[in-house]
Parts: sequence; C-alpha cells; structure tokens
Amino acid sequence: MPTPLSPVSEILKLTKPQIAAFKKLGVETAADLLMLLPYRYLDFSKTVKIKDLRPGENISLRVKIKSINGRFSFRARISLAEAVVSDETGSLKVTWFNQPYLAKSLKLGDEIFLAGKAEYYNSALQLTNPLYEKTSDFPVHTARLVPVYHLTRGLYPKTIRNAVKAALPLAGSLIDILPDETLIRQKLLPLKKAVGLSHFPQSLRDIAEAQTRLNFEDLFIKQLIVQKTRLENQKRPAYQIQFDQKLIKQFVDSLPFALTLEQKQAAWDILRDLEKPQNMNRLLEGDVGSGKTAVALIAALQVMQKGLQAVLLCPTEILAKQHHETAQKYLLNPPPFFNARISLFTQSLHFTNKKVKTAKELAAEISGGMPGLIVGTHALLEKTVKLPKLALLIIDEQHRFGVQQRAELLKTGPFTPHLLSLSATPIPRTLKLALTGELEISQIRRKPQGRKPILTRVVNNVERHKTYGFIRRQIAAGRQIFVITPLIEEGVFDVKSAKQEFEQLQKAFPEFNIGLLHGKLASKAKEAVMRDFLDNKIQILVSTSVVEVGVDVPNASVMVIEGAERFGLSQLHQFRGRVGRAEHQSYCFLFPSQDAANEETLARLSAFAKTQDGFELAELDLKQRGFGKLYGTEQAGWDVKLFDPDYISLIPKARQEAKKLLEEDPNLAKYPLLQAKIKDQSIHFE
Ligand code: ADP
Ligand code: MG
Repeated sequence: MPTPLSPVSEILKLTKPQIAAFKKLGVETAADLLMLLPYRYLDFSKTVKIKDLRPGENISLRVKIKSINGRFSFRARISLAEAVVSDETGSLKVTWFNQPYLAKSLKLGDEIFLAGKAEYYNSALQLTNPLYEKTSDFPVHTARLVPVYHLTRGLYPKTIRNAVKAALPLAGSLIDILPDETLIRQKLLPLKKAVGLSHFPQSLRDIAEAQTRLNFEDLFIKQLIVQKTRLENQKRPAYQIQFDQKLIKQFVDSLPFALTLEQKQAAWDILRDLEKPQNMNRLLEGDVGSGKTAVALIAALQVMQKGLQAVLLCPTEILAKQHHETAQKYLLNPPPFFNARISLFTQSLHFTNKKVKTAKELAAEISGGMPGLIVGTHALLEKTVKLPKLALLIIDEQHRFGVQQRAELLKTGPFTPHLLSLSATPIPRTLKLALTGELEISQIRRKPQGRKPILTRVVNNVERHKTYGFIRRQIAAGRQIFVITPLIEEGVFDVKSAKQEFEQLQKAFPEFNIGLLHGKLASKAKEAVMRDFLDNKIQILVSTSVVEVGVDVPNASVMVIEGAERFGLSQLHQFRGRVGRAEHQSYCFLFPSQDAANEETLARLSAFAKTQDGFELAELDLKQRGFGKLYGTEQAGWDVKLFDPDYISLIPKARQEAKKLLEEDPNLAKYPLLQAKIKDQSIHFE
C-alpha cells in the first residue's frame, strides 16, 4: 500500500528521466507531488456540442473518432495527425502537429474529450492541437478547470497531471498541521480537501478557498513565530537609551553632506523609540540611494556611546564589507567618536576597525560583551557568537521576512534589543494596515538633492545593435554594465536565460570580460564574481535577480533588463537602483521578450520608464496585480503575494489565531507538529 511517503515511482509508472525531472521540481514522494500546486488554470470547463461551436472560445467537446490518420508533411517538415470527430449534432476536423504517436494511441470509434479553441480554416471551423483524453468521470486534461504546473525539461503537463491524479487518493493521509479548532474557528478547509481542490477544482470558488487555506497556513506559522517571540520579549525589558542631542548633532555636523529633512525625521523617530522601555520595531523605508545608512549609523552611534552593542545584519558579505567601510569612514575619520569599535563578522572576514582578527578571537570578544557596532552576515547567527549587550539590531535590505533568524537574535541577552529594518521595497498601503500594531514605519521619500534621474527606455530587438554600440562606448569611457535575465537556464518559454545571454554576450563583446551570477552558484562563487565586478575585472555582469540586493558598484552606469515584462515594477526599480550611484549619468534599458511585446506589456514598461519614484511604482504594481495571476508567483518574485489584498487580509486573522493558541498553550506543548514546523522554518538570505 503506497503512503504519502512512498516514492512517486510507486504511484505511477515513470521512466528514469521522468523521475529525475520530478526530483528537479523537488518532488520525490507522493506527498511532494500533492504539494506541487498549480500556479494557474486553463478554463475548459464549458462543454458544448459541435453545432454550438463558436470561434475563439475555450471549450471542451465530447466526441467519437470517425477517422484518424498520421502523415509526415515534407513540405512543412512536420508530422501531422488529422482526425474527423463527431457528436450527435455534427462533425469536425481536428489537426495535431508534431504528435506522431497520437495517430496510434487514438483509434477509430474511441470516445474522447477534446479541449481547445475552434478557429475558421478554409471557411470551416477546425480544432488545432486540442488537448485530448479518453472520456471518463474524472477527466484531468480536458472538460474542466485544467491545472497548469511549472515544468522542467523532460516532463510534459500531461505527465504531471496524471501523476497528481494517481497520488490524489493519498491526500487523505496528509498530515494537517493546523489544529482542528483553528480550522473550525477560521472556517478553513482541511488540508486534504484544500490540496484536492487546488489540483482539480470544480469552480473558481474552489480555487479561492483552497488558496485561502494554504496561504493561511503560511501566515499562521509566521505569526506563531512573531507572537511567540513577542511574548518572550515582553518578559524582558528593552534598554532605555537616552537621546544625547549634543553627540548626535556633533556627528551630523561631521557628515560630508547635510541630512535631508526626512532623514532627520526618521533619525528623530528612532532615537525617541530607543528611549522607551518597550523594544522598538521600526521599518525605515526609502528608495534605493535615499540615504538609509546614515540614519542607521546615527542610531548605532547612540547605542555604542552607552557601551552597548549594535548589530547591522546584511544579506551578503560584500554588502557587509561596504557597510563596515562606510561606518569607519563616518565614525572614525576625524574626529573619532568615543573610540568607536566597528567590527566586521562574516564567514571569511573578521575585523575590528582596520585590525584583522581570527573568527575565534572576534567571536570571543563579541561574546564577552565588547561594545560597538558589529556589521555582519548570517555568520553572526551561528552559535559561537553571543551578543550579551545587544541593544539594537539593524537589518539591511530585508526583502524576505526573516522571521526565524530575527527571532534568534532578539533572544540573546537579558534585554530585548530594539529592531530597525531597512528596506528599499515600499510596503503597500493595505499591508501596512494589516501590520498595524506590529510595526512602526518611517519613510524617506525624496532622495538627496542633485541626483540625476536614470534615463530609462523600453527598447525593441531591432534596436539591439544600437544599444550594444552604446554599451561599447560606455565601457570605453570606463563604465560597467549590468545585464539582468529572468531565468538561469533556458526554460520552456521563449524567455532569456542568464547562461544563454552570457554566451551570447561573450560573442558580441569578445574584447570585454563578462561575468555570470545566479542563485545556483555557491555563495563563495557568487561573492567572487561580485568582487571581480566591483574591482572592474569584469565589465559586463550577467545576472538573475540575485543581484537585486543593495550592493554599491558606483562605476556601473548601464542596467539592461532582458525579459523585462517578467518582473514586477518594484523589482525593476530595484534593479535600476543598482546604477546611478555616483556622478555618472546612468541608463536603464528594458528589453521585453519577443513574444510578449504586446500593447499591455509595453504600456506597463513605459509607465515604469516615466517615473523614478519607487513608492508610486509600488502602487502601480498593486493596481496591476493581474500580473501575479498571469505568471505565477515564482517568476514574479517574492513581492506578488504582498500586493494581493486577499492574501493580506488574512494577516490579522492569522495573528489573532496565533495569539489565541499561544495564550492557551504558550509552549505549544499540545501541538508537536507546529512546534517542529517553527523550529525548521529557516528563511534564506540570497
Ligand atoms: P540606501 O538608502 O540605498 O541604503 P545609502 O545610504 O547607501 O542609500 O546612500 C546612498 C548614497 O547617498 C551614499 O553614497 C551616501 O553617502 C549618500 N547620501 C546619503 N545621505 C545624503 C544626503 N543627505 N545628501 C547627499 N548625499 C547623501
Ligand atoms: Mg543600503
């Protein structure tokens, strides 16, 4: 008897390559398969009679095969299967291209479902390349809302749907992590039902209900972590740090620029929060290049001066190194502020100010309570480092809600540290409302004066060589170029991949060094490529979206985005923010994929080209949230869900439910599954 833990090959006969392909999608067991959810659906739920066929409408038919023949068209160099099918109201010609096996698998007299769109051909309606399957009570490829899954080479949509159908009876044995009371109170579907409906819904309502249930689970787990940490924190006070106006003024006056009004306001908000006995939880939102670092350093200085520890946590080593350098520049170079100690702690770099240390040495000093600012990466989260005097935790570029890791750091020491998150991605208004009471927000909406806007243009393929000419001249003038692609490897779509683009650009620019960066590289390799780009050993860097995190390459002046329609506007804005970080006039070129260059796409991208305001773009993203539905959340990046009002509206419910559960059972003793889930929820930095 197969169980949810049985390998997929026990559920359905699969070839070795198919098993390998499933593995690539993260599917090894029946349970994995059941949790491989569709990202969209084809609506073939309307079944019509042949006489009622209309052109251009997605429909299904129930028909009998009257004749079927396979042949090879030498003229078109393509194999054809041609059939005539009929029902009691008429008959219809059907053609399939490039499916030679089909004429053998379908036979005269077979009853089948067809799904597709009829079109006129020589003044008669015809179906071309329709989906088909033998008639049954439970069709999966036709005559219904048909699930569409992300594919990988070697797997056809039909294979996945057949496999899911075969695994479906096991859904009943999936373990539901949500307590029964929660399901009842929140009127949610049990997991087995939600999974079933998600794969094979009868209606759009089914899809929505299934989605709600699955999203709720995600949010509920996150809220459990947040609320549990909050309860624990409430048991410990926060450091009350007095605002030393004289000190701060001295520091601000020493900066090489005058702070903008919004920077001052944000710093003021933070310094006021630090005085309170409850710990701060504040988000500082500001566009790329708006000057969040200076504000963060003001807060850090105030903390350091009291003999306490401030941590600045960064998603990458390079970013940490940059911040370490900036902090030294501002806090040490003259006049030194109170013998500030500014350490750097990453996987491979260990410094206090300019002094090199061993990991062990520095870990011991920090664990011994050495006051100062500690800039670091996730290496700081390892067990070897304790932060007994941690009073302020600053998280830079907090794209993902790193709930668990944040919680880990917040737990160190007898006091609860204040928390400041820096983010360049504006939170949509609806989400802000949902987070009320959990998060205070400061905004920097205007950049420091004197920044040149980044000239942004949507470019078509015909103009590609001109753009390349422009790139050549920029590099000749000493500049560097970013090229972003949506995919790492060639996929099933006609969309550019980083590897392809890398090879192609090597041919187009043999005189330059070209680098390749993507999420599948080990983090050491990623850092090495970024380092070479920073040092101008590489002139053109081809990358997937991993580059989005805030690294400063002041010499880069051109951002080329391939397959630009695949990204949300906020994400495009993040990419664009990678250039224009120094005095050089900078440029952003958007190339839509060739098959996507329709009016709607072009309008969206042109709207982007016209504005430099990240907040405005976030609102536009919100209005056009059809985007996420169209492409699925994976390609669109993390932010799509957070722009979805249905998803956001679940947050307060998840929070309420998490609070209730923790009130009754603070240690979740009655819920071992939830306990385990919370433990291994690790949130990745890229
Ligand atoms: P981000 O908000 O993206 O982290 P940074 O803090 O890195 O931005 O600031 C971007 C650049 O702007 C830095 O080179 C910084 O020195 C500069 N900067 C910050 N504040 C001001 C200001 N008020 N006036 C002029 N330049 C500023
Ligand atoms: Mg920054």
